[in-house]
Amino acid sequence: MTPPTTTDSDAASAARRERLERAIDAAWPELEAFTLDLHAHPELMFEEHRSAAALVAALERAGFEVETGSGGIDTAFVARHRFGPGGPRVALLAEYDALPELGHACGHNLIATAALGAARALREALVDGAGELLVIGCPAEEGGGGKILLLQAGVFEGVDAALMFHPGSRTMTIRGALAATRVTMRFFGKAAHAASSPELGINALDACILTFNAINALRQHVIDETRIHGIISHGGSAPNIVPEYAEAKFLIRHRRSEEVAALKERGLAAARGAAASVGARVEFEEGLFYAERKVNVPMANRFAAHLEAQGEPVLEAPAVGRVGSSDFGNVSQVLPAIHPYVAIVPEGVSAHTPEFAAASASQAGLRGLRLASVALAATAADLLVDADLLAATRADFGASPAPGGTA
Ligand SMILES: [Zn+2]
Ligand SMILES: [Zn+2]
Repeated sequence: MTPPTTTDSDAASAARRERLERAIDAAWPELEAFTLDLHAHPELMFEEHRSAAALVAALERAGFEVETGSGGIDTAFVARHRFGPGGPRVALLAEYDALPELGHACGHNLIATAALGAARALREALVDGAGELLVIGCPAEEGGGGKILLLQAGVFEGVDAALMFHPGSRTMTIRGALAATRVTMRFFGKAAHAASSPELGINALDACILTFNAINALRQHVIDETRIHGIISHGGSAPNIVPEYAEAKFLIRHRRSEEVAALKERGLAAARGAAASVGARVEFEEGLFYAERKVNVPMANRFAAHLEAQGEPVLEAPAVGRVGSSDFGNVSQVLPAIHPYVAIVPEGVSAHTPEFAAASASQAGLRGLRLASVALAATAADLLVDADLLAATRADFGASPAPGGTA
């Protein structure tokens, strides 16, 4: 068997990775303290003031120029460092919001610290860089669509490539995510005494329950891999009052945006029918539209190579299922981007659980953080230095089928 040929650029990339790795090791006690501090002070979406301020301060200390309040969001920021004139603009994305009750159960403390660690290392150790490095502080991933708002505000304009990592239960770099949309349904009826004069009432809760039944009846007749899930967020105030108001929240997902749009219309029709059947009225509030994730294969492969060089095997993604949605999908639709996973928990442990929150401050979490920091730094360095990789990345972005993604 012929040994794999080593080209100059492979050797140069490996040498860059080793320099960056040494810089990350030198900063490691601070990075470890930083991520544990974020973990100990979880903040909900749009309220990440302490976490954002800590990141901004650390990036300023590392020599970055930082703009805060980017895109009109208090807890967003953009940190910049220019290596030289011209060249590409490469962005590391930081997430730092946590979940109600569970704290950092999605490991965003690790995501933020990996972006910080990679940025510091690049600033110190990338001697032959061109172009500009950005760290974009992205609030409110957990339901607030922070990146969608930053995209709408133009914060990503001029960015050639965006990179982040996410902790998970399986190390994998080529992994799609579902398109998704949220709908809040508000049902209006008429209150009445539920025992003495029920004939005067219109039961908004019945309209809401019939909506769930109508949507459940649709499930047999929807395209495979559809996800529709909802809760009743208001179901009346007392059992002796006919509920005049009820409210439900639904999420609708599929791996193609156009399916989500069509399914949403069917869900709204189900609610209109359900409301009409009891004489109630329904209003809808539609949430942000989360696009499906498009994986940039040359960038993902380079990230995988930098993980494997550190001894971390990279696995294939499961063929079906085990996938959610993220505002990162919208970023990936407008510029080349990657959102690879590094395992910090065994397979079968899901994010958004107390186990995952504990793992995000564990030795396994710190191990994943170090692997990801090095791979992010090394991949960003390759993009800043290696014009062939940047060209391949651009070609892949242009060549990929638009909606649907590659995985
Ligand atoms: Zn999450
Ligand atoms: Zn997450």
